[in-house]
Amino acid sequence: MAEDAIKRKNDLLTLRVHNKENLKSCGYRLICHVMEEYEKERDMLKAYVNEILHSIFFLGIIYSDRITPGEFMSAARAESLRQEFPEPFDKYKSHPPKRTPFSILLDMMVRKHHTEDKVMEELRSLLEKLKFPHPLKKAGVKTQNWFTLESTVICVCSRDHLPSKTYFGASLTCCTKEARTIMIHNSCIYTWHKHVSYVVMSYKVGGKSDSDMPKLKFPKSITCQAYLRNWNTNTYDKVEPCLNCQRMFSLPGNNEKSYPIGNCAETECLSKLLSDDQITEKSVIIDNFDVSDFNKLKEQAKQELKSDLAIFCNQMFCHIGYP
Ligand SMILES: [Zn+2]
Repeated sequence: MAEDAIKRKNDLLTLRVHNKENLKSCGYRLICHVMEEYEKERDMLKAYVNEILHSIFFLGIIYSDRITPGEFMSAARAESLRQEFPEPFDKYKSHPPKRTPFSILLDMMVRKHHTEDKVMEELRSLLEKLKFPHPLKKAGVKTQNWFTLESTVICVCSRDHLPSKTYFGASLTCCTKEARTIMIHNSCIYTWHKHVSYVVMSYKVGGKSDSDMPKLKFPKSITCQAYLRNWNTNTYDKVEPCLNCQRMFSLPGNNEKSYPIGNCAETECLSKLLSDDQITEKSVIIDNFDVSDFNKLKEQAKQELKSDLAIFCNQMFCHIGYP
């Protein structure tokens, strides 16, 4: 084998080991953090811990270098965790989770701190403590990826008629296109509000063109602001919605870049707003909504999810579409 081919092979091997270690250390740090929180409010946080462990363990098996729950921590720690939380250890290979670990973490924070300023401040302080690797590609190196559990983008939205209640969303934190597609299908089937899910599925599953795509029009009383974490200063910088989000959700903006669905956080926070607030839900206009088309797209998304999970997790997930 030529010298440069050997070097490339070795570089790729080093990178895979590096990525796997990154994901393991992120998972372990996140588990330690939620367990610290759990010790303060056991009854209130039990469901969150079950959900976050399930989601972390699932993300451990959807990349090519799989991580089993026992590899995230010592055998003794895994066993004591299993004693207290048996459900995620049983479910991670048969049921896809409804949300990413970071989305669940964000919800835990919102439950405790409520306001935008306080939540963002707590998030900055936690991320400083957790020291996740930066989820950035190195310029010019296509395969250089940091595997992390951090969502790079956070979005906050609120309404004029109830400004004290804010909704938070996070980007999907998946490091490969395949993993991101699995989580988008998951979210469309289980998690997002049907209108958001319909718009995303039309684009992602139905492959509709811009002119045919259903669009959501939110009332002008809604404000929606996304933030991108700046790792140099550990602050969140305001970012405009990308072209996709401007089109899908009729958001104002001059950003001419389009990011793949899943990279933006508008989807999750607008979905939460619609699910929680009937006044907004009734005042939103959705162009071209068709129930039979929606059901067809959802069925298609389930089939694609099932097949992706069989390929990438090397596992037959029999619980696609569970309530
Ligand atoms: Zn976007």
